[in-house]
Amino acid sequence: MTKPPMLTAQQALDHLLSHAQSVEGGEVVTIQDALGRVLSESVSSLVDVPPLDNTSMDGYAVRTKDTATPGAILRVAQRIPAGSVGTMLEPGTAARIFTGAPIPQGADAVVMQEDCILEGQTGGLAQVKINIAPNSGQWIRRQGEDLTAGKTALAAGTFLRPQELGVAASAGLTHLPVKRRVRVAAFFTGDELALPGETLKPGGIYNSNRDTLLACLKSLACDATDLGIVPDQLEATKAALRKASKDHDLIITSGGVSVGEEDHLKPAVTAEGRLDLWQIAIKPGKPLAFGAVRKSDEPADGEAWFIGLPGNPVSSFVTFLLFVRPFILKLQGRDESTPQSYPMRADFDWLKADRRNEFLRVKINAQGGLDLFPNQSSGVLTSASWGDGLIDCPPGQVIQTGDLVKYIPFSALLS
Ligand code: AMP
Ligand code: MG
Repeated sequence: MTKPPMLTAQQALDHLLSHAQSVEGGEVVTIQDALGRVLSESVSSLVDVPPLDNTSMDGYAVRTKDTATPGAILRVAQRIPAGSVGTMLEPGTAARIFTGAPIPQGADAVVMQEDCILEGQTGGLAQVKINIAPNSGQWIRRQGEDLTAGKTALAAGTFLRPQELGVAASAGLTHLPVKRRVRVAAFFTGDELALPGETLKPGGIYNSNRDTLLACLKSLACDATDLGIVPDQLEATKAALRKASKDHDLIITSGGVSVGEEDHLKPAVTAEGRLDLWQIAIKPGKPLAFGAVRKSDEPADGEAWFIGLPGNPVSSFVTFLLFVRPFILKLQGRDESTPQSYPMRADFDWLKADRRNEFLRVKINAQGGLDLFPNQSSGVLTSASWGDGLIDCPPGQVIQTGDLVKYIPFSALLS
């Protein structure tokens, strides 16, 4: 049997992303239901934000012509709380004004109350002494400086976080057009697998990939279907693939992608569609299968994408984050894909350089450096639970205490 080609992580990712295209179709949802979704069309603001020039301080609105020297005395001619609109500010007067209230016509600066002394408050003849000479425009927030009516408030492809929902609300919108959810089916191969709650037979282990991977899909706002555990048999694997292809955009599986005789995904996917089996020069995670499964015998019905992840729990988690997540982001039409890595200081030695690109589980310590989980085995899932993220360690590289390394936080990979 010929050995599959060995790809770098970047080559594998580029290859995957060159195939993925945004899914067709979307829906309109309320802002409250839009968290974690992807905007399908750009939306414009209905209003200027702020709607009028307004003050960012409690104080006095003045004409700077009247306050060119510190100590000017002005008559307090009006009071403008937030939500009201004042009248023309006559020369020689000031307006008592509160944060968020519109600047009255004629005024061109606000002096904060700490820089003013109120005098002679009786009989409505209040006067205010302005202790500074404000610059024109001081403490004024300009109409439309945040958003402009009729102009794009949020662009198509934007991933909607809490702050984007707030921007939409400030623009006066109640609903947002979003991409439909990407539909992903998952199944888990292995005769050794049992569900938590079941009694383990000798040689059995609990299926942890199910919960890790389904939660990853949930955190990416996918519609996930759990097709359960599939035994290590060719026919059962083919049947699971046929079922999974029906109503889904993508099928992901764990286990069975090596080329051992108990690994049935390769022949099954080949029979039901097409498959590339890759060896990726990464650790954990070496084998990864990518292909497509026919939705029916009718070519016009199309295909569902297929990504087969390795079975070891850390391998399947890490390869999901590195390869499946960017693929899903592209299906979702999100305008970003690969996560940013940050230079961070290693507070440990890692002296066994590997030929493969390693992704080490690490945690940020109180000194602002990174600690390494002592057991980096691809079967030890507690390394990922202990860790805050991964170090992307290039092939052949050792790490010495104090070195700057490329750190990718899990938090950037799970949304
Ligand atoms: P495989 O990729 O099928 O050769 O599996 C590699 C290793 O991962 C084996 O030790 C399997 O028992 C383990 N494994 C496979 N699937 C799972 C799973 N769903 N949950 C936990 N461990 C698994
Ligand atoms: Mg297996």
